[in-house]
Amino acid sequence: MSGESKIEWTDSTFNPWIGCTKVSPGCDHCYAEAWDRRFAESGHAMHWGTGKARRRTSESNWRQPVRWNAAHDAFLAEHGRRRRVFCASLADVFDNEVPDHWRWDLFRVIAATPNLDWLLLTKRIGNALKMLNEAAAAVEDDFVGASTWDRSPWANVWIGATVVNQEEADRDIPKLLDTPAAARFISIEPMLGDIRLGSFLQRSPSAAFANGCVTPDMPAWTRIGATAIDWVICGGESGRHARPMHPDWARSLRDECSAAGVPFLFKQWGEWLPWHHFTDARIDDPHERTRFVTREWLDDRWIDVGRPNFWDSKDGDIDDMQCVGRVGKKAAGRQLDGREWNGFPTEAAR
Ligand code: SF4
Repeated sequence: MSGESKIEWTDSTFNPWIGCTKVSPGCDHCYAEAWDRRFAESGHAMHWGTGKARRRTSESNWRQPVRWNAAHDAFLAEHGRRRRVFCASLADVFDNEVPDHWRWDLFRVIAATPNLDWLLLTKRIGNALKMLNEAAAAVEDDFVGASTWDRSPWANVWIGATVVNQEEADRDIPKLLDTPAAARFISIEPMLGDIRLGSFLQRSPSAAFANGCVTPDMPAWTRIGATAIDWVICGGESGRHARPMHPDWARSLRDECSAAGVPFLFKQWGEWLPWHHFTDARIDDPHERTRFVTREWLDDRWIDVGRPNFWDSKDGDIDDMQCVGRVGKKAAGRQLDGREWNGFPTEAAR
């Protein structure tokens, strides 16, 4: 469990438990499941799949957020902002198969650490509203009267939904917008198709007001956040079986966010890099030569082009815009059109 995270959009990760069930095409190559499977091969229990018990992490791990919370002043002095904690990189907070009292224990920790911003990213956003309300009811006796709890149980909770294609975006973003949170974000990783966010980026009255989970008498920052997406993250897939992301999908998202004034973070290309991003230095790297294969976008899908003699054909028969090469996540980097995109929600937007 990590004090300092390598994930570009968080400072730390905290896993209250481990295990999950695949629920989306975005789960196809789940690195956490692969990691768990390796342990299972050496005789340990498997924690992935329906009916498989999840594993709660150690008590000492559960004390880690309290230590981060206590170190707030030093973190603020160094970074000029609060610490962001990504909760459950090896699980899903809103997993139906997790005992409710584990989740309530998690919300006790969240409520007891008001100096941390908790980033709860889920592929089960349809469960979030009900489970959040249940957790609030279960733990409120411990926190009522504390100034942060009385302001809102969700004052330090950012809720994110992972969506990987337009179908999931249309199905899940309305549910995200109806969920109470200090900030709402979407993570489009792995990006598996073109996604248009359209009106989800506009700040207009949402169903959240209509169904009563957000009311006009709640603090302004809560109501503002309830009406639009506050942050968009996008990235390509990494790992052995990674699927490529078309550069125009990422560009279109970036441009939509820019037009709507919504922060956009381009996390990574993943394994595959568009042909026109290659440099001679990268291509000449011996390690990358051996793994170099290309795919081309034809009509509506990627097709294998194989392993061309690319250093001869660089100026020849490969279409710059439609071809990706497998160079590995590290070499592919995270620049889109010549620069990094590192947008984050501002305090004013929350
Ligand atoms: S929801 Fe996340 S942790 Fe669970 S299987 Fe899918 S990718 Fe893995």
